[in-house]
Amino acid sequence: MDKTQGLKVTRRSILKTIPALSAISAGSSFFTKAACAQEPLEDGYTICDNCNQMPMCGIHFQRQGNIVVSVGNWKEHSGKLLCNKALATLQRLYNPNRLLYPMKRTNPKGSADPGFVRISWQEALATIAANMKKIRDQYGAEKLFIFCGDPKEPRPAAMRLARYFGTYHYGTESSVACRKGSLLAEQLVFGSEYSGGGCGPKTKSYMVMATNGAWSKPHGWWNMINAAKQRGVKIIVIDARRTKVAELADIHLQPKQGTDAALGAGICRVLFEEDLYNKPFCDKWVYGVEEYRNYCKDFTPEKTEAITGVPADLIVKAARM
Ligand code: SF4
Repeated sequence: MDKTQGLKVTRRSILKTIPALSAISAGSSFFTKAACAQEPLEDGYTICDNCNQMPMCGIHFQRQGNIVVSVGNWKEHSGKLLCNKALATLQRLYNPNRLLYPMKRTNPKGSADPGFVRISWQEALATIAANMKKIRDQYGAEKLFIFCGDPKEPRPAAMRLARYFGTYHYGTESSVACRKGSLLAEQLVFGSEYSGGGCGPKTKSYMVMATNGAWSKPHGWWNMINAAKQRGVKIIVIDARRTKVAELADIHLQPKQGTDAALGAGICRVLFEEDLYNKPFCDKWVYGVEEYRNYCKDFTPEKTEAITGVPADLIVKAARM
Protein backbone atom coordinates (compact mmCIF):
# COMPACT_ATOMS: atom_id res chain seq x y z
CA MET A 1 0.00 0.00 0.00
CA ASP A 2 1.09 3.55 -0.66
CA LYS A 3 2.62 4.74 2.62
CA THR A 4 1.03 8.14 2.24
CA GLN A 5 -2.36 6.46 2.33
CA GLY A 6 -1.40 4.62 5.50
CA LEU A 7 -0.35 7.82 7.24
CA LYS A 8 -3.23 9.84 5.82
CA VAL A 9 -0.81 12.65 5.01
CA THR A 10 -2.40 14.98 2.53
CA ARG A 11 -0.50 17.46 0.41
CA ARG A 12 -2.24 20.16 2.44
CA SER A 13 -0.99 18.80 5.76
CA ILE A 14 2.52 18.46 4.32
CA LEU A 15 2.51 22.06 3.19
CA LYS A 16 1.39 23.10 6.62
CA THR A 17 4.12 21.00 8.22
CA ILE A 18 7.08 22.09 6.15
CA PRO A 19 7.33 25.78 7.16
CA ALA A 20 7.60 24.67 10.76
CA LEU A 21 10.60 22.51 9.90
CA SER A 22 12.80 25.55 9.61
CA ALA A 23 12.07 26.53 13.20
CA ILE A 24 15.06 24.63 14.51
CA SER A 25 16.54 25.76 17.76
CA ALA A 26 19.62 24.14 19.24
CA GLY A 27 18.56 24.48 22.82
CA SER A 28 15.05 23.10 22.69
CA SER A 29 14.11 19.51 23.09
CA PHE A 30 11.26 19.90 20.64
CA PHE A 31 12.53 21.79 17.70
CA THR A 32 9.73 21.32 15.18
CA LYS A 33 6.09 22.03 15.65
CA ALA A 34 3.56 21.61 12.92
CA ALA A 35 0.32 23.48 13.26
CA CYS A 36 -1.66 20.79 11.52
CA ALA A 37 -4.61 18.78 12.71
CA GLN A 38 -6.92 19.65 15.57
CA GLU A 39 -6.19 16.28 17.14
CA PRO A 40 -4.82 16.12 20.71
CA LEU A 41 -1.05 16.16 21.08
CA GLU A 42 0.35 12.81 22.17
CA ASP A 43 3.88 11.88 23.28
CA GLY A 44 5.75 8.85 22.03
CA TYR A 45 9.18 7.28 22.28
CA THR A 46 11.15 5.38 19.69
CA ILE A 47 14.63 4.57 18.42
CA CYS A 48 16.38 6.40 15.59
CA ASP A 49 17.13 4.01 12.74
CA ASN A 50 19.11 6.42 10.56
CA CYS A 51 22.38 4.70 11.49
CA ASN A 52 20.85 1.24 11.21
CA GLN A 53 21.96 -1.21 13.86
CA MET A 54 23.66 1.32 16.09
CA PRO A 55 23.88 3.56 18.05
CA MET A 56 20.05 3.60 18.16
CA CYS A 57 19.62 6.97 19.80
CA GLY A 58 16.39 7.66 21.64
CA ILE A 59 13.73 9.86 20.10
CA HIS A 60 10.95 11.59 21.97
CA PHE A 61 8.30 12.61 19.47
CA GLN A 62 4.89 14.18 19.51
CA ARG A 63 2.05 13.38 17.16
CA GLN A 64 -1.35 14.71 16.34
CA GLY A 65 -3.45 11.92 14.91
CA ASN A 66 -1.28 10.18 12.34
CA ILE A 67 1.07 13.13 11.87
CA VAL A 68 4.36 13.33 13.74
CA VAL A 69 4.71 17.00 14.57
CA SER A 70 7.93 17.17 16.56
CA VAL A 71 11.08 15.18 17.13
CA GLY A 72 13.60 15.73 19.90
CA ASN A 73 15.93 14.19 22.44
CA TRP A 74 14.61 11.42 24.67
CA LYS A 75 16.26 12.76 27.78
CA GLU A 76 16.15 9.54 29.83
CA HIS A 77 17.68 7.42 27.05
CA SER A 78 21.39 6.57 27.15
CA GLY A 79 21.81 7.89 23.58
CA LYS A 80 19.95 11.08 24.22
CA LEU A 81 21.69 13.53 21.90
CA LEU A 82 20.21 13.35 18.44
CA CYS A 83 22.41 14.34 15.53
CA ASN A 84 21.40 16.38 12.48
CA LYS A 85 20.25 13.30 10.60
CA ALA A 86 17.71 12.45 13.27
CA LEU A 87 16.71 16.06 13.74
CA ALA A 88 15.84 16.13 10.03
CA THR A 89 13.42 13.22 10.43
CA LEU A 90 10.33 15.30 9.71
CA GLN A 91 11.84 16.69 6.52
CA ARG A 92 12.57 13.13 5.43
CA LEU A 93 9.21 11.78 6.48
CA TYR A 94 7.04 14.44 4.87
CA ASN A 95 9.07 15.67 1.94
CA PRO A 96 6.61 15.74 -0.97
CA ASN A 97 9.38 14.45 -3.26
CA ARG A 98 10.08 11.40 -1.15
CA LEU A 99 10.20 8.22 -3.23
CA LEU A 100 7.52 5.85 -2.02
CA TYR A 101 7.10 3.38 -4.87
CA PRO A 102 8.88 2.41 -8.11
CA MET A 103 8.87 5.10 -10.79
CA LYS A 104 9.79 4.69 -14.43
CA ARG A 105 11.17 7.36 -16.71
CA THR A 106 9.15 7.65 -19.89
CA ASN A 107 11.09 10.47 -21.59
CA PRO A 108 14.73 10.11 -22.71
CA LYS A 109 17.52 11.11 -20.32
CA GLY A 110 18.26 14.82 -20.55
CA SER A 111 14.63 15.75 -21.21
CA ALA A 112 13.36 18.74 -19.27
CA ASP A 113 10.56 16.54 -17.98
CA PRO A 114 11.64 12.94 -17.23
CA GLY A 115 7.98 11.92 -17.36
CA PHE A 116 8.18 9.60 -14.35
CA VAL A 117 5.17 7.33 -13.95
CA ARG A 118 4.40 4.96 -11.13
CA ILE A 119 4.84 1.26 -11.91
CA SER A 120 4.27 -1.92 -9.92
CA TRP A 121 7.06 -3.70 -8.05
CA GLN A 122 6.57 -6.63 -10.41
CA GLU A 123 7.21 -4.45 -13.45
CA ALA A 124 10.17 -2.76 -11.75
CA LEU A 125 11.85 -6.07 -10.87
CA ALA A 126 11.17 -7.55 -14.32
CA THR A 127 12.65 -4.45 -16.00
CA ILE A 128 15.79 -4.53 -13.84
CA ALA A 129 16.25 -8.27 -14.38
CA ALA A 130 15.88 -7.90 -18.15
CA ASN A 131 18.46 -5.12 -18.23
CA MET A 132 20.89 -7.10 -16.09
CA LYS A 133 20.56 -10.06 -18.43
CA LYS A 134 21.13 -7.78 -21.40
CA ILE A 135 24.34 -6.45 -19.85
CA ARG A 136 25.61 -9.94 -19.08
CA ASP A 137 24.83 -11.23 -22.58
CA GLN A 138 26.27 -8.21 -24.34
CA TYR A 139 29.29 -7.20 -22.24
CA GLY A 140 29.88 -9.87 -19.57
CA ALA A 141 28.67 -10.07 -15.97
CA GLU A 142 31.71 -8.28 -14.54
CA LYS A 143 30.70 -5.08 -16.33
CA LEU A 144 27.89 -4.63 -13.82
CA PHE A 145 28.61 -2.69 -10.63
CA ILE A 146 26.18 -3.30 -7.81
CA PHE A 147 26.10 -0.56 -5.22
CA CYS A 148 24.28 -0.61 -1.91
CA GLY A 149 23.92 2.59 0.08
CA ASP A 150 22.22 3.11 3.41
CA PRO A 151 20.38 1.48 5.12
CA LYS A 152 22.87 -1.29 5.57
CA GLU A 153 20.50 -4.20 6.12
CA PRO A 154 20.19 -5.19 2.42
CA ARG A 155 23.96 -5.43 1.99
CA PRO A 156 24.35 -9.20 2.52
CA ALA A 157 21.58 -9.81 0.00
CA ALA A 158 23.12 -7.38 -2.50
CA MET A 159 26.50 -9.08 -2.05
CA ARG A 160 24.98 -12.47 -2.75
CA LEU A 161 23.22 -11.06 -5.80
CA ALA A 162 26.55 -9.74 -7.13
CA ARG A 163 28.23 -13.08 -6.48
CA TYR A 164 25.57 -15.23 -8.11
CA PHE A 165 25.24 -12.84 -11.01
CA GLY A 166 28.97 -13.21 -11.56
CA THR A 167 30.35 -9.73 -10.91
CA TYR A 168 32.99 -8.92 -8.32
CA HIS A 169 32.13 -5.22 -8.62
CA TYR A 170 30.18 -4.54 -5.47
CA GLY A 171 30.39 -1.35 -3.42
CA THR A 172 28.74 0.35 -0.52
CA GLU A 173 28.45 3.89 0.70
CA SER A 174 30.85 3.01 3.53
CA SER A 175 33.51 2.01 1.06
CA VAL A 176 33.41 5.16 -1.03
CA ALA A 177 31.52 7.98 0.58
CA CYS A 178 31.54 7.56 4.33
CA ARG A 179 34.93 9.20 4.92
CA LYS A 180 36.69 6.02 3.87
CA GLY A 181 38.50 7.87 1.10
CA SER A 182 39.76 10.56 3.45
CA LEU A 183 40.71 8.01 6.11
CA LEU A 184 42.73 6.08 3.55
CA ALA A 185 44.42 9.29 2.44
CA GLU A 186 45.27 10.11 6.06
CA GLN A 187 46.73 6.66 6.57
CA LEU A 188 48.82 6.95 3.43
CA VAL A 189 50.06 10.47 4.21
CA PHE A 190 50.42 10.45 7.98
CA GLY A 191 50.73 6.75 8.67
CA SER A 192 47.55 6.76 10.76
CA GLU A 193 44.13 8.31 10.86
CA TYR A 194 44.66 11.88 11.84
CA SER A 195 41.75 14.30 11.82
CA GLY A 196 39.35 11.40 12.14
CA GLY A 197 41.16 10.17 15.21
CA GLY A 198 40.67 13.34 17.19
CA CYS A 199 43.16 14.40 19.84
CA GLY A 200 46.08 12.10 20.49
CA PRO A 201 47.68 11.81 23.93
CA LYS A 202 50.32 14.37 22.95
CA THR A 203 47.91 16.89 21.45
CA LYS A 204 48.25 20.31 23.07
CA SER A 205 45.98 22.32 20.84
CA TYR A 206 43.20 21.32 18.50
CA MET A 207 41.69 23.36 15.69
CA VAL A 208 38.10 22.82 14.62
CA MET A 209 37.09 24.41 11.36
CA ALA A 210 33.49 24.98 10.28
CA THR A 211 32.02 21.94 11.89
CA ASN A 212 29.54 21.67 14.71
CA GLY A 213 30.30 18.18 15.96
CA ALA A 214 28.02 18.75 18.95
CA TRP A 215 25.18 18.28 16.50
CA SER A 216 26.64 16.29 13.62
CA LYS A 217 28.70 13.85 15.73
CA PRO A 218 27.15 14.07 19.19
CA HIS A 219 28.65 10.83 20.47
CA GLY A 220 32.26 9.89 19.68
CA TRP A 221 33.57 13.25 18.51
CA TRP A 222 31.68 15.35 21.04
CA ASN A 223 32.82 13.14 23.91
CA MET A 224 36.37 13.24 22.54
CA ILE A 225 36.57 17.02 22.43
CA ASN A 226 35.00 17.44 25.87
CA ALA A 227 37.50 14.97 27.34
CA ALA A 228 40.33 16.81 25.57
CA LYS A 229 39.13 20.11 27.00
CA GLN A 230 39.07 18.65 30.47
CA ARG A 231 42.64 17.45 30.24
CA GLY A 232 43.79 20.91 29.21
CA VAL A 233 43.98 20.75 25.40
CA LYS A 234 43.59 24.27 23.98
CA ILE A 235 40.80 24.54 21.42
CA ILE A 236 40.58 26.94 18.51
CA VAL A 237 37.29 27.08 16.63
CA ILE A 238 37.01 28.73 13.23
CA ASP A 239 33.34 29.22 12.52
CA ALA A 240 31.22 32.25 11.71
CA ARG A 241 28.53 30.76 13.92
CA ARG A 242 28.43 30.60 17.71
CA THR A 243 28.01 26.86 17.97
CA LYS A 244 28.02 24.57 20.96
CA VAL A 245 31.56 23.59 19.97
CA ALA A 246 32.55 27.26 19.86
CA GLU A 247 31.48 27.51 23.51
CA LEU A 248 34.41 25.21 24.34
CA ALA A 249 36.91 27.32 22.43
CA ASP A 250 39.84 29.09 24.02
CA ILE A 251 39.94 31.15 20.83
CA HIS A 252 36.94 31.53 18.55
CA LEU A 253 37.70 33.07 15.18
CA GLN A 254 34.62 34.23 13.25
CA PRO A 255 35.59 35.03 9.68
CA LYS A 256 33.11 36.57 7.28
CA GLN A 257 31.66 33.91 5.05
CA GLY A 258 33.83 32.97 2.10
CA THR A 259 37.05 34.33 3.65
CA ASP A 260 38.33 31.21 5.38
CA ALA A 261 41.13 30.65 2.86
CA ALA A 262 42.44 34.17 3.57
CA LEU A 263 42.28 33.45 7.29
CA GLY A 264 44.24 30.24 6.71
CA ALA A 265 46.88 32.16 4.77
CA GLY A 266 47.07 34.78 7.52
CA ILE A 267 47.60 32.11 10.18
CA CYS A 268 50.17 30.29 8.04
CA ARG A 269 52.08 33.53 7.46
CA VAL A 270 52.63 33.76 11.24
CA LEU A 271 53.67 30.09 11.35
CA PHE A 272 56.21 30.64 8.59
CA GLU A 273 57.51 33.99 9.88
CA GLU A 274 57.94 32.74 13.43
CA ASP A 275 59.19 29.31 12.40
CA LEU A 276 56.35 27.59 14.25
CA TYR A 277 55.70 24.83 11.74
CA ASN A 278 57.04 21.31 11.52
CA LYS A 279 59.71 21.83 8.89
CA PRO A 280 61.11 18.26 8.75
CA PHE A 281 57.57 16.93 8.25
CA CYS A 282 56.82 19.48 5.52
CA ASP A 283 60.14 18.82 3.78
CA LYS A 284 59.38 15.13 3.67
CA TRP A 285 55.68 15.08 2.92
CA VAL A 286 54.30 18.36 1.63
CA TYR A 287 54.46 19.65 -1.92
CA GLY A 288 54.59 23.36 -2.71
CA VAL A 289 55.59 24.64 0.74
CA GLU A 290 57.87 27.37 -0.63
CA GLU A 291 55.24 28.52 -3.14
CA TYR A 292 52.65 28.68 -0.38
CA ARG A 293 55.05 30.53 1.94
CA ASN A 294 55.53 33.17 -0.78
CA TYR A 295 51.79 33.37 -1.36
CA CYS A 296 51.12 33.89 2.36
CA LYS A 297 53.62 36.76 2.66
CA ASP A 298 50.94 39.17 1.52
CA PHE A 299 48.53 38.18 4.27
CA THR A 300 49.77 40.32 7.12
CA PRO A 301 47.57 40.18 10.22
CA GLU A 302 46.21 43.65 9.40
CA LYS A 303 45.39 42.75 5.80
CA THR A 304 43.86 39.44 6.92
CA GLU A 305 41.72 41.34 9.43
CA ALA A 306 40.53 43.68 6.67
CA ILE A 307 39.48 40.69 4.52
CA THR A 308 38.06 38.38 7.16
CA GLY A 309 36.88 40.67 9.94
CA VAL A 310 38.89 38.63 12.47
CA PRO A 311 40.98 40.90 14.75
CA ALA A 312 44.70 40.85 13.85
CA ASP A 313 45.83 40.08 17.39
CA LEU A 314 43.53 37.03 17.56
CA ILE A 315 44.96 35.70 14.30
CA VAL A 316 48.49 35.91 15.73
CA LYS A 317 47.37 34.44 19.06
CA ALA A 318 45.70 31.47 17.35
CA ALA A 319 48.74 30.80 15.18
CA ARG A 320 51.03 30.84 18.21
CA MET A 321 48.71 28.56 20.14
S1 SF4 B 1 23.85 9.14 15.52
FE1 SF4 B 1 22.19 10.35 14.60
S2 SF4 B 1 21.42 9.15 12.90
FE2 SF4 B 1 22.64 7.77 14.16
S3 SF4 B 1 21.15 6.80 15.53
FE3 SF4 B 1 21.97 8.59 16.63
S4 SF4 B 1 20.58 10.29 16.15
FE4 SF4 B 1 20.17 8.62 14.67
